[in-house]
Amino acid sequence: MFDTLSDRLTGIFAKLKGKGRLTDADIDATAREIRLALLEADVALPVVKAFIARLKERARGAEVHGALNPAQQVIKIVHEELVGVLGGEARRLQFAKHPPTVIMLAGLQGSGKTTLAGKLARHLKGLGHQPLLVACDLQRPNAVNQLQVLGGRAGVEVYAPQPGNGVGDPVQVAKDSIEHARRAMRDIVIVDTAGRLGIDTEMMRQAADIRDAVQPDEVIFVIDAMVGQDAVATAEAFRDGVGITGVVLSKLDGDARGGAALSVREVTGSPILFASTGEKLEDFDVFHPDRMASRILG
Ligand code: GDP
Repeated sequence: MFDTLSDRLTGIFAKLKGKGRLTDADIDATAREIRLALLEADVALPVVKAFIARLKERARGAEVHGALNPAQQVIKIVHEELVGVLGGEARRLQFAKHPPTVIMLAGLQGSGKTTLAGKLARHLKGLGHQPLLVACDLQRPNAVNQLQVLGGRAGVEVYAPQPGNGVGDPVQVAKDSIEHARRAMRDIVIVDTAGRLGIDTEMMRQAADIRDAVQPDEVIFVIDAMVGQDAVATAEAFRDGVGITGVVLSKLDGDARGGAALSVREVTGSPILFASTGEKLEDFDVFHPDRMASRILG
């Protein structure tokens, strides 16, 4: 992820090396190249526009001082603006005052929700919590089984409808799981929900019904970082249809251009909480805007 963008930015900054002072023309030329690099990385246009406007304003106003030469100064500004676009400070999960804390996962089918459920459960267990995984994706035939396998690997209980009970009602399963969590003294409930290949009203309604049934402390929107420009429309649909409190970027290990990662915070207004970086349960980390910005700058 971000390899092309990193290379492009390195090339752009290299041209500034050795310059004593940056003229407005230098700044404009650099800003234009960075604009192109971001667009080619699939970053959403409004995000790029705002980024470039801030960059220009700051680069023009920057005092030439201290140990930083003009090229380093521009790099510093780009770094800080990237951190801003990615959300600034790392944001931790919000826990309920009265357990259990309920975390609901939402997103398109294939975005990595079920995998994330397992990762999150493992992560939280490692922090000393007693999570319960809840299988409310009753649409995808294998989703319940997949969650049970992941739960087994993470050593975390999975609450699922009994086999043979037909398709089952995911809203009822979600509701019952909270009761079960209370009885079984689980302090965190992670609810995996169904996704579709595209956004549709039925899926949104089901997700909203599950949300109303479990009153989640966090609604985490899982987005496949490989999806490029479509990410923005999907993120907006989930923000408006279900309401989201946080985002997880999945498949950050892929070699896509990374625009989704750079757009989703500004588009949804919700912080990126975690990064999913592979198929294994341990391929998972708390999301640090600062570290990600440094990675992009190479
Ligand atoms: P869901 O339909 O949203 O529940 O998506 P799944 O969790 O079933 O994931 C869909 C596919 O993506 C599966 O093959 C996962 O193994 C894979 N996957 C999930 N997260 C990641 C990730 O971070 N990196 C990679 N490379 N693959 C992932």
